[in-house]
Amino acid sequence: MIERQQPANDARHGLHWWRWLRDARYVPAVCAMLLVLAALPMAAAYSRHNDEPRGPTNTAIVEPLRIFHESGQRLSLDQARALYAEGGFQENDRLAGNYGFRPEGMWFHLRLRNPGVDDPKWLLVVEYPLIDFLDAFIIAADGHVNEFRSGDRVPFEQRAVDMREPNFALDLPPGETLEVFLRAESQSSMQVPLVVEPAAEYLANRIPGNQALGMYYGVLAALGLYNLILYLSVRDRLFLWYVVYIVGFGVLVAVLNGLAFQYLWPNAPDFGNRFLIVGIPLALMAMLQFSRRFLETHRHALRLHRLINWMMLALLAESVAALFLSYRTCVLVETASVFVVTPTVLFTAIRVLPRYRPARYFLLAWSALLISLIIYSAVSFGYLPKHPLTEYSVQLGSALEMVLLSFALAYRFNLLKAENERIQSEAREQLESRVRARTHELDATLKRLEDVNQRLEDFSRRDGLTNVYNRRHLDQLMRDAVDHARNGNHPLALLLLDVDHFKQINDRHGHLAGDDCLRAVARSCRELVSGSDGSVARYGGEEFVILLPSAGRDVAARLAEDVRTRIERLAVTIDGNTIPLTISIGLHCATPDNLPEHAEQLIAAADEALYKAKQAGRNRVQLCAASATGS
Ligand code: GH3
Ligand code: MG
Ligand code: MG
Repeated sequence: MIERQQPANDARHGLHWWRWLRDARYVPAVCAMLLVLAALPMAAAYSRHNDEPRGPTNTAIVEPLRIFHESGQRLSLDQARALYAEGGFQENDRLAGNYGFRPEGMWFHLRLRNPGVDDPKWLLVVEYPLIDFLDAFIIAADGHVNEFRSGDRVPFEQRAVDMREPNFALDLPPGETLEVFLRAESQSSMQVPLVVEPAAEYLANRIPGNQALGMYYGVLAALGLYNLILYLSVRDRLFLWYVVYIVGFGVLVAVLNGLAFQYLWPNAPDFGNRFLIVGIPLALMAMLQFSRRFLETHRHALRLHRLINWMMLALLAESVAALFLSYRTCVLVETASVFVVTPTVLFTAIRVLPRYRPARYFLLAWSALLISLIIYSAVSFGYLPKHPLTEYSVQLGSALEMVLLSFALAYRFNLLKAENERIQSEAREQLESRVRARTHELDATLKRLEDVNQRLEDFSRRDGLTNVYNRRHLDQLMRDAVDHARNGNHPLALLLLDVDHFKQINDRHGHLAGDDCLRAVARSCRELVSGSDGSVARYGGEEFVILLPSAGRDVAARLAEDVRTRIERLAVTIDGNTIPLTISIGLHCATPDNLPEHAEQLIAAADEALYKAKQAGRNRVQLCAASATGS
């Protein structure tokens, strides 16, 4: 009875491929494909790393690295050189130095010698893209000083090679020496990992890493696009939040690894720095938004839900404040925020886990990211060896996270779909049974109404006093009878009855007695007609009509006589007085060939005969002249 409700989307997106893409069952397949694609370059990087050990990395550095921390006052090159000569620089055993947060400048001293590589083109690279300012003073053996500037506060074009890490070109022919003073200054973390390598070698070694990075962004873009299509198709806003999260995360990673500076705003270093500190809280917000929507915290962990809401508000404030506050303050606050937000999401997922099954996938995805971050930190702090799998752990981990989140979304979507279908079918059943009940009630009511209508209609056809048909219905009966006779080639008879001297009865016995007499006459007529197709009607006053469709003259005359005698023998007794009653009857019989054009003409003919019956002394039947000639 009730049509199954089709999702409105079907009508809007009739395309086959669209429906295919929309079907969340295919998400795992797509994700698995992306994962394999992402794994390939990583594996390539790994094997390459093993097959071809890196060249003479940093072998050109012939003296231990020496550093000096400025304290407030900025040194000139000459001052630094003098200080170095006095032994004011201190030895540093590690090249991959992380010197914490320090706004003051730092000096580095390197003495280089080409150990015999033919190519004189070498590169000095600071493998940390976010360092603000780098001033390199390269002093040739003849004492000539070349000065270069780099860092993410300096327009990108000043770099020797178009690379996301700041770098300087060194001219170092075989056997030659160079002395380098490098001054670094940064508002954020002071990380200055130094690499000196022949340029060709350095660039060749970067290729697998770049491929991996490219593939990483490919995976993010594919996931983003795919989920955007899913959102457009199924209109579940969670997919949109996921896309926002992916885009936010992807852009943030691009800012952090220097790619955004290289490709998006190479001439706007200040904008890039501001973008980062404004963007970090926004990306964290996107993460929280997605997480709370996914985990349905408002349903499964209300207190955490409120906490997350407050956190999001605080992050928004941080983001706005980042437009005005100093870079350094923002970086410190935001770093702290990361350490608050991330465990909160983790904790929330664990809390929701027993109550909400999709949380399992979510937790798995998050664990992938967190483990990769831990591995990455362990590498940064030197607890784990540098290795492509550890070096790119964040990329691997976050790609895995995104893919697993896609799984989670698909799982949740299917769960919701099943739930939805269950609710729909339940509702349908309920509705159907209600409709059945209503239909039943309606049928009964309609039946009652029909009965009442029938009674009402019958009532409207009858005379109130005698209960035989009234004049109005008689007209209809006569028309039908004439039609019937004409169509079926039947005869037709009509008797017009009039009570004799009725006025006297009224005068003598009262009108109520008169009424009784009329009722008695009507009853007698009905009794005599019953069993035939004839009908009785009150024509008016004390006059009645008996209509006999398809009755011939003999039958009609016999009935007329029966009626007359029956009335004559009626003994209507009122207050002990028996009232004698007689009637006169005018009879009109029509044959099929002399049927009147208008039904009233039947009455006129019978009336004429009735008049004659009265004239002839009453209490008799008179056949009308026209009938007498018929058959
Ligand atoms: P005739 O033999 O020539 O037919 O004489 P009559 O008195 O029957 O005829 P007349 O037409 O003079 O009188 C008919 C009377 O019937 C007049 C009227 O008061 C009476 N009448 C008409 N309708 C009713 C009614 O519903 N109830 C009663 N009690 N009397 C009625
Ligand atoms: Mg009369
Ligand atoms: Mg009369």
